Amino acid sequence: MKRGKIYVVGLGPGDRANMTEAFLKAIRESDVIVTYKTYAELIKDLTVGKEVITANMKEELLRAKVAIEKALEGKTVAVVSSGDPQVYGMASPVLELLCLGGFDVEVEVLPGVTAALAASSLFGAPLAHDFAVISLSDLLTPREEILRKVELASEGDFVIALYNPINPNLLREAMRVIAKYRSPRTPVGIAKAVGRDDQWIALTTLGEWESYSDQINMVTTIIVGNSRTYTCGRLMITPRGYGNKYELARYVEEVRNNHRSSGGSSQ
Ligand code: SAH
Repeated sequence: MKRGKIYVVGLGPGDRANMTEAFLKAIRESDVIVTYKTYAELIKDLTVGKEVITANMKEELLRAKVAIEKALEGKTVAVVSSGDPQVYGMASPVLELLCLGGFDVEVEVLPGVTAALAASSLFGAPLAHDFAVISLSDLLTPREEILRKVELASEGDFVIALYNPINPNLLREAMRVIAKYRSPRTPVGIAKAVGRDDQWIALTTLGEWESYSDQINMVTTIIVGNSRTYTCGRLMITPRGYGNKYELARYVEEVRNNHRSSGGSSQ
């Protein structure tokens, strides 16, 4: 019998342009697709004629188990997460089961565009220096541990991308912790349903983000700038290092001068 294979893949935020070629190829090659209902819906035109398993699939280990069983039947299986499969996705549950069971199944993990990157690019360049990604889901991690990570990332002046802001109290508490270390003027980008039909974004601040709390749901990523992040119009920019202000000014001047001398207007 043919040896089964599992592709652990991510579809990106949702839009076709942000699905990788490798993802599309893996889906084409697969006989079975194991995923959530919402994601199955996003890729339904790619899975016509394939076995798509979504029912009763809330539990990650259960999905990993089904995928392995199908692969052991000699099938090629794609386990589909949103974004990237390693980032709070299906990669570790699948690999943990495979590793513990020692099953004879080929496995390949393919990278995808994770929500933090899809969201951040809508604001420009907020993640352009060191950043921390923290999940606010307290289903599998105790809230004290989550808040401690938020605290340390804040103290370390990391830009912070918050995933899974599903518990409003915990989100409020996390933002309060960050506010101990950062000014109320710190830029905050809120991005909901990036790459989907109902995409919505707001650029706000650490002092004012709560006026958008009604919009925040389980497909929202929140990006909190560090002490050097600033806004320029609708953009959020984190400089890559210290002290390039004068150089920036010099280059702006050069661009203006060159533009003028080539006959353009500088305004
Ligand atoms: N593996 C996924 C993350 C899964 S955890 C990835 O790499 O993106 C689920 C969280 O991801 C959500 O609560 C939300 O914070 C974020 N997320 C997923 N899709 C998103 C989207 N289209 N827009 C904004 N945030 C998204």
